[in-house]
Amino acid sequence: MLENLEKIKQQFSEELNAVNSNAELEKIRVSFLGKKGLVTEQLKNLRDLTPEEKKTAGMQVNKLKNEIEQAIVEYQKTLEEKEYLQEIENSEHYDYTIPGGRGAGTLHPISIVQKQIEDIFKTMGFIIEDGLEIQTEYNNFEAVNIPKNHPARDMQDTYYLDNGQLLKTHTSAAQNAIMKKYGAPKTGEPLRVLFPGRCFRNENLDASHENTFFQLEGIMIGDDISISNLIYFMKVLLSEVFERDVKVRLRPGFFPFVEPGFELDINCEICEGSGCPTCKHSGWLELLPCGMIHPNVLRMGGIDPDKYTGFAFGLGLTRLAMMKYNIKDIRLFNSGNIKQLRQFTR
Ligand SMILES: [Zn+2]
Repeated sequence: MLENLEKIKQQFSEELNAVNSNAELEKIRVSFLGKKGLVTEQLKNLRDLTPEEKKTAGMQVNKLKNEIEQAIVEYQKTLEEKEYLQEIENSEHYDYTIPGGRGAGTLHPISIVQKQIEDIFKTMGFIIEDGLEIQTEYNNFEAVNIPKNHPARDMQDTYYLDNGQLLKTHTSAAQNAIMKKYGAPKTGEPLRVLFPGRCFRNENLDASHENTFFQLEGIMIGDDISISNLIYFMKVLLSEVFERDVKVRLRPGFFPFVEPGFELDINCEICEGSGCPTCKHSGWLELLPCGMIHPNVLRMGGIDPDKYTGFAFGLGLTRLAMMKYNIKDIRLFNSGNIKQLRQFTR
């Protein structure tokens, strides 16, 4: 009997080494540990032994049974790992060994639109600034006139960090720091700043919602800045981006950081204003919130609201890129799908 067990053990390891799939592994398990399996047969054979022999042999058969069970579990892990590595091997991946110039990457569609807008605004005297992605609650909310318990906080599902800071929910989080950095305009030239950035909200993902998206915001502050300045800059911006002469209209809109606040619409390009499903038959597409900077926001930024006024506008950069390139699913942007993203390269 002892010889028999050694043989079974030997046979098991030989067969196990040849296994390449879960199905094959299961076959081996059945042939050794199943109802009619080799090891199970040995357990049945114990009946024919004397009590003394039964004790020793029983222990040995059980030991073999445990070893085989253990080996099968281990092998399953190895198989899973193998499968995982195989999957990576088969998937499309970037080959770092391709010499420079041949496998070079391309600009992301959001970077393309962002750069285009930055270039337009630079020619109009705007400074480009970068905001931090990790922000204090103060910068993200209080400093832009969204105090604690303000309903606007509920509308922005925020990722809070363990240290009490948060991932910024909008580019406005940079406003306070920018105003403090540059201060009130000193030379009579208005302060003009453009600040694009990545924003985060805990959204349920679908074709039009992402937890990570880009906005672009601009402010202009001076002695005599009015709504007509705002409309002028928006018309220039949109005409350049869409490469056509756009008509815009303002509707009253409520945003805590501006007073008065507006929703800016552009005329629908698809139907040229006569009404279609894309514009919900209104002839207009809602594009960006804007308005005159709220006196509280100026004050918190260290700028005297009795002396200076300013406008602010926010633009969904991700949304704009979707409109410009006719991208139907927002999830494409963060997908890392190089084949899809490459088609927007100029
Ligand atoms: Zn339309």
